[in-house]
Amino acid sequence: MKKLKEQICTELIQFVEEEEKERNQKRWKQPLVEFADAYHPYVRRLKEIVHSEHQMPEEVLKDAKTVLVYFLPFCDWVAKSNEGDGLASSEWARIYEETNAFFLKINQHMIKYIEGLGYQARMAPEASVFYRDEVISHWSFRHLAYAAGLGTFGMNNMLITEYGCAGRLNALVTNLPVETGSPQKEEACLYKRNGSCGLCIKRCPSQALTDKKFDRHKCFAQCLKNAEVHTQFGNSYADQAGEEAVDSGSEVCGKCLVHLPCTSRRP
Ligand code: SF4
Ligand code: SF4
Repeated sequence: MKKLKEQICTELIQFVEEEEKERNQKRWKQPLVEFADAYHPYVRRLKEIVHSEHQMPEEVLKDAKTVLVYFLPFCDWVAKSNEGDGLASSEWARIYEETNAFFLKINQHMIKYIEGLGYQARMAPEASVFYRDEVISHWSFRHLAYAAGLGTFGMNNMLITEYGCAGRLNALVTNLPVETGSPQKEEACLYKRNGSCGLCIKRCPSQALTDKKFDRHKCFAQCLKNAEVHTQFGNSYADQAGEEAVDSGSEVCGKCLVHLPCTSRRP
Protein backbone atom coordinates (compact mmCIF):
# COMPACT_ATOMS: atom_id res chain seq x y z
CA MET A 1 0.00 0.00 0.00
CA LYS A 2 3.10 2.21 0.12
CA LYS A 3 2.89 2.54 -3.64
CA LEU A 4 -0.74 3.66 -3.47
CA LYS A 5 0.10 6.36 -0.93
CA GLU A 6 3.03 7.61 -3.00
CA GLN A 7 0.84 7.68 -6.07
CA ILE A 8 -1.80 9.85 -4.35
CA CYS A 9 0.78 12.24 -2.85
CA THR A 10 2.58 12.61 -6.18
CA GLU A 11 -0.67 13.29 -8.03
CA LEU A 12 -1.59 16.09 -5.65
CA ILE A 13 1.86 17.64 -5.78
CA GLN A 14 1.90 17.49 -9.58
CA PHE A 15 -1.56 19.04 -9.80
CA VAL A 16 -0.33 22.05 -7.84
CA GLU A 17 2.86 22.26 -9.96
CA GLU A 18 0.78 22.16 -13.12
CA GLU A 19 -1.43 25.02 -11.88
CA GLU A 20 1.65 27.15 -11.19
CA LYS A 21 3.55 26.25 -14.36
CA GLU A 22 2.45 29.16 -16.52
CA ARG A 23 2.79 31.83 -13.85
CA ASN A 24 5.62 34.33 -13.58
CA GLN A 25 5.33 34.38 -9.83
CA LYS A 26 4.56 31.16 -7.98
CA ARG A 27 2.13 31.35 -5.07
CA TRP A 28 2.78 28.05 -3.34
CA LYS A 29 5.71 25.86 -2.47
CA GLN A 30 5.47 22.10 -2.85
CA PRO A 31 2.53 20.86 -0.77
CA LEU A 32 3.03 18.63 2.25
CA VAL A 33 0.73 15.61 2.09
CA GLU A 34 -0.03 13.01 4.77
CA PHE A 35 -2.83 10.72 5.90
CA ALA A 36 -4.52 10.51 9.29
CA ASP A 37 -6.14 7.32 10.48
CA ALA A 38 -9.89 8.00 10.68
CA TYR A 39 -9.94 5.91 13.86
CA HIS A 40 -6.84 7.35 15.52
CA PRO A 41 -7.67 8.09 19.20
CA TYR A 42 -6.96 11.80 18.63
CA VAL A 43 -9.46 11.93 15.75
CA ARG A 44 -12.01 10.10 17.91
CA ARG A 45 -11.67 12.88 20.50
CA LEU A 46 -12.27 15.80 18.12
CA LYS A 47 -15.75 16.34 19.52
CA GLU A 48 -14.14 16.99 22.92
CA ILE A 49 -11.08 18.84 21.66
CA VAL A 50 -12.62 21.12 19.01
CA HIS A 51 -16.42 21.21 19.29
CA SER A 52 -19.18 18.82 20.33
CA GLU A 53 -20.58 19.06 16.79
CA HIS A 54 -17.30 18.33 15.02
CA GLN A 55 -18.06 16.09 12.08
CA MET A 56 -16.57 12.59 12.20
CA PRO A 57 -14.92 11.05 9.11
CA GLU A 58 -17.55 8.28 8.90
CA GLU A 59 -20.28 10.96 8.77
CA VAL A 60 -18.61 12.21 5.60
CA LEU A 61 -17.90 8.81 4.04
CA LYS A 62 -19.52 5.69 5.47
CA ASP A 63 -16.51 3.41 5.18
CA ALA A 64 -13.95 6.11 5.95
CA LYS A 65 -10.52 4.73 6.66
CA THR A 66 -8.17 7.65 6.29
CA VAL A 67 -8.14 11.42 5.94
CA LEU A 68 -5.88 12.86 3.29
CA VAL A 69 -4.54 16.11 4.73
CA TYR A 70 -2.40 18.58 2.83
CA PHE A 71 -0.70 21.90 3.48
CA LEU A 72 -0.13 24.46 0.73
CA PRO A 73 2.78 26.60 1.99
CA PHE A 74 2.77 30.18 0.73
CA CYS A 75 5.85 31.34 -1.15
CA ASP A 76 8.13 33.60 0.86
CA TRP A 77 7.10 36.77 -1.01
CA VAL A 78 3.50 36.27 0.14
CA ALA A 79 4.50 36.11 3.82
CA LYS A 80 6.92 39.00 3.35
CA SER A 81 4.18 41.19 1.90
CA ASN A 82 2.26 40.91 5.19
CA GLU A 83 5.06 41.94 7.54
CA GLY A 84 3.92 45.52 8.13
CA ASP A 85 1.84 46.54 11.15
CA GLY A 86 -1.93 47.03 11.05
CA LEU A 87 -4.07 45.53 8.33
CA ALA A 88 -3.10 42.61 6.11
CA SER A 89 -1.40 43.30 2.79
CA SER A 90 -3.57 43.08 -0.31
CA GLU A 91 -1.24 40.34 -1.64
CA TRP A 92 -1.90 38.30 1.48
CA ALA A 93 -5.68 38.75 1.08
CA ARG A 94 -5.53 37.84 -2.61
CA ILE A 95 -3.46 34.70 -2.14
CA TYR A 96 -5.64 33.66 0.79
CA GLU A 97 -8.76 33.84 -1.39
CA GLU A 98 -7.07 32.27 -4.41
CA THR A 99 -5.87 29.40 -2.24
CA ASN A 100 -9.35 28.77 -0.88
CA ALA A 101 -10.77 28.77 -4.40
CA PHE A 102 -7.99 26.48 -5.63
CA PHE A 103 -8.73 23.96 -2.87
CA LEU A 104 -12.03 23.23 -4.55
CA LYS A 105 -10.21 22.43 -7.80
CA ILE A 106 -7.62 20.25 -6.08
CA ASN A 107 -10.28 18.38 -4.13
CA GLN A 108 -12.46 17.78 -7.18
CA HIS A 109 -9.44 16.54 -9.11
CA MET A 110 -8.28 14.25 -6.30
CA ILE A 111 -11.77 12.81 -5.76
CA LYS A 112 -11.93 11.89 -9.46
CA TYR A 113 -8.41 10.51 -9.39
CA ILE A 114 -9.07 8.39 -6.30
CA GLU A 115 -12.33 7.11 -7.79
CA GLY A 116 -10.39 6.16 -10.91
CA LEU A 117 -8.27 3.91 -8.70
CA GLY A 118 -11.40 2.18 -7.37
CA TYR A 119 -11.66 4.02 -4.04
CA GLN A 120 -13.68 6.96 -2.74
CA ALA A 121 -12.99 10.41 -1.33
CA ARG A 122 -15.27 13.16 -0.07
CA MET A 123 -15.03 16.75 1.12
CA ALA A 124 -16.57 17.25 4.55
CA PRO A 125 -19.75 19.34 4.15
CA GLU A 126 -18.92 21.09 7.44
CA ALA A 127 -15.58 22.26 6.04
CA SER A 128 -17.29 25.06 4.13
CA VAL A 129 -19.46 26.25 7.01
CA PHE A 130 -18.20 28.86 9.43
CA TYR A 131 -20.34 29.47 12.50
CA ARG A 132 -19.97 33.21 12.98
CA ASP A 133 -21.72 33.39 16.34
CA GLU A 134 -19.22 30.97 17.87
CA VAL A 135 -16.41 31.86 15.44
CA ILE A 136 -15.72 28.21 14.76
CA SER A 137 -16.03 25.49 12.16
CA HIS A 138 -17.19 21.97 12.88
CA TRP A 139 -14.38 20.54 10.77
CA SER A 140 -10.86 21.42 11.80
CA PHE A 141 -8.18 20.95 9.15
CA ARG A 142 -5.56 21.93 11.72
CA HIS A 143 -6.49 19.19 14.14
CA LEU A 144 -6.67 16.58 11.38
CA ALA A 145 -3.27 17.72 10.16
CA TYR A 146 -1.96 17.35 13.71
CA ALA A 147 -3.37 13.80 13.84
CA ALA A 148 -1.62 13.04 10.55
CA GLY A 149 1.69 14.25 11.97
CA LEU A 150 2.07 17.27 9.69
CA GLY A 151 3.06 19.51 12.60
CA THR A 152 2.29 20.75 16.10
CA PHE A 153 0.40 23.82 17.32
CA GLY A 154 2.18 27.10 17.91
CA MET A 155 1.31 29.81 20.41
CA ASN A 156 -0.31 31.48 17.41
CA ASN A 157 -2.82 28.62 17.37
CA MET A 158 -1.65 27.52 13.93
CA LEU A 159 0.01 24.30 12.88
CA ILE A 160 3.78 24.61 12.50
CA THR A 161 4.81 22.24 9.72
CA GLU A 162 8.16 21.45 8.18
CA TYR A 163 7.47 24.49 5.95
CA GLY A 164 6.27 26.65 8.82
CA CYS A 165 2.77 27.95 9.36
CA ALA A 166 2.30 30.50 6.55
CA GLY A 167 -0.01 28.61 4.24
CA ARG A 168 -3.37 26.86 4.20
CA LEU A 169 -4.56 23.37 5.06
CA ASN A 170 -7.22 21.21 3.51
CA ALA A 171 -8.39 17.59 3.66
CA LEU A 172 -10.45 14.82 2.09
CA VAL A 173 -11.99 11.81 3.81
CA THR A 174 -11.15 8.61 1.94
CA ASN A 175 -11.46 4.85 2.15
CA LEU A 176 -7.87 4.43 0.96
CA PRO A 177 -6.14 1.68 2.94
CA VAL A 178 -2.80 3.48 3.22
CA GLU A 179 -0.20 3.93 5.92
CA THR A 180 -1.00 6.88 8.17
CA GLY A 181 1.08 9.38 10.13
CA SER A 182 0.70 10.09 13.83
CA PRO A 183 1.11 13.20 15.99
CA GLN A 184 4.67 14.48 16.34
CA LYS A 185 6.14 13.99 19.79
CA GLU A 186 8.26 17.13 20.03
CA GLU A 187 6.71 20.63 20.04
CA ALA A 188 7.72 22.75 17.04
CA CYS A 189 6.83 26.03 18.78
CA LEU A 190 9.81 27.53 20.62
CA TYR A 191 7.65 28.93 23.40
CA LYS A 192 6.08 25.54 24.06
CA ARG A 193 9.41 23.78 23.73
CA ASN A 194 11.58 25.97 25.95
CA GLY A 195 9.70 29.14 26.88
CA SER A 196 11.56 31.33 24.39
CA CYS A 197 10.24 33.42 21.46
CA GLY A 198 6.61 34.49 21.96
CA LEU A 199 6.97 36.83 18.98
CA CYS A 200 3.59 35.95 17.48
CA ILE A 201 1.90 37.28 20.64
CA LYS A 202 3.64 40.63 20.21
CA ARG A 203 2.68 40.83 16.56
CA CYS A 204 -1.08 40.41 17.10
CA PRO A 205 -2.73 43.82 16.54
CA SER A 206 -5.89 42.94 18.50
CA GLN A 207 -4.49 41.28 21.65
CA ALA A 208 -6.33 38.12 20.63
CA LEU A 209 -3.22 36.14 21.51
CA THR A 210 -1.78 35.97 24.98
CA ASP A 211 0.46 33.37 26.57
CA LYS A 212 -2.62 32.00 28.33
CA LYS A 213 -5.24 31.80 25.60
CA PHE A 214 -6.49 32.64 22.15
CA ASP A 215 -9.56 34.89 21.99
CA ARG A 216 -11.25 33.90 18.73
CA HIS A 217 -13.80 36.72 18.97
CA LYS A 218 -11.09 39.41 19.14
CA CYS A 219 -9.29 37.72 16.26
CA PHE A 220 -12.42 37.62 14.12
CA ALA A 221 -13.13 41.29 14.85
CA GLN A 222 -9.69 42.08 13.40
CA CYS A 223 -10.43 39.91 10.35
CA LEU A 224 -13.66 41.84 9.81
CA LYS A 225 -11.71 45.12 9.89
CA ASN A 226 -9.62 43.69 7.08
CA ALA A 227 -12.73 42.59 5.20
CA GLU A 228 -13.95 46.18 5.13
CA VAL A 229 -10.81 47.14 3.22
CA HIS A 230 -10.00 44.05 1.14
CA THR A 231 -13.21 43.82 -0.84
CA GLN A 232 -11.71 43.24 -4.29
CA PHE A 233 -11.03 39.50 -3.96
CA GLY A 234 -14.42 38.30 -2.72
CA ASN A 235 -15.06 36.00 0.19
CA SER A 236 -14.34 32.39 -0.72
CA TYR A 237 -16.06 31.01 2.37
CA ALA A 238 -19.36 32.52 1.39
CA ASP A 239 -18.81 31.42 -2.23
CA GLN A 240 -18.04 27.81 -1.31
CA ALA A 241 -20.93 27.54 1.09
CA GLY A 242 -23.19 28.76 -1.69
CA GLU A 243 -24.53 31.43 0.63
CA GLU A 244 -25.02 35.10 0.23
CA ALA A 245 -21.80 36.72 1.31
CA VAL A 246 -22.31 37.93 4.86
CA ASP A 247 -19.84 40.55 3.94
CA SER A 248 -18.01 40.45 0.70
CA GLY A 249 -14.49 41.20 1.86
CA SER A 250 -11.58 38.94 2.72
CA GLU A 251 -11.66 37.98 6.37
CA VAL A 252 -7.92 37.78 6.78
CA CYS A 253 -5.14 39.03 9.03
CA GLY A 254 -2.25 36.59 9.43
CA LYS A 255 0.08 38.97 11.29
CA CYS A 256 0.82 36.17 13.77
CA LEU A 257 2.09 33.98 10.91
CA VAL A 258 4.73 36.22 9.38
CA HIS A 259 8.15 37.61 10.22
CA LEU A 260 8.63 34.82 12.77
CA PRO A 261 11.02 31.91 13.25
CA CYS A 262 8.13 29.56 12.41
CA THR A 263 6.83 31.41 9.33
CA SER A 264 8.33 29.20 6.66
CA ARG A 265 10.12 26.43 8.54
CA ARG A 266 10.06 24.40 11.69
CA PRO A 267 12.25 26.44 14.09
S1 SF4 B 1 6.39 32.88 16.83
FE1 SF4 B 1 7.50 31.72 18.36
S2 SF4 B 1 6.03 31.47 20.05
FE2 SF4 B 1 4.86 32.05 18.24
S3 SF4 B 1 4.24 30.10 17.34
FE3 SF4 B 1 6.14 30.70 16.34
S4 SF4 B 1 7.75 29.67 17.52
FE4 SF4 B 1 5.88 29.65 18.76
S1 SF4 C 1 -4.89 36.42 12.87
FE1 SF4 C 1 -4.43 38.53 13.46
S2 SF4 C 1 -5.89 39.07 15.03
FE2 SF4 C 1 -5.94 36.84 14.81
S3 SF4 C 1 -4.52 36.12 16.37
FE3 SF4 C 1 -3.34 36.32 14.47
S4 SF4 C 1 -2.49 38.37 14.53
FE4 SF4 C 1 -4.10 38.28 16.08
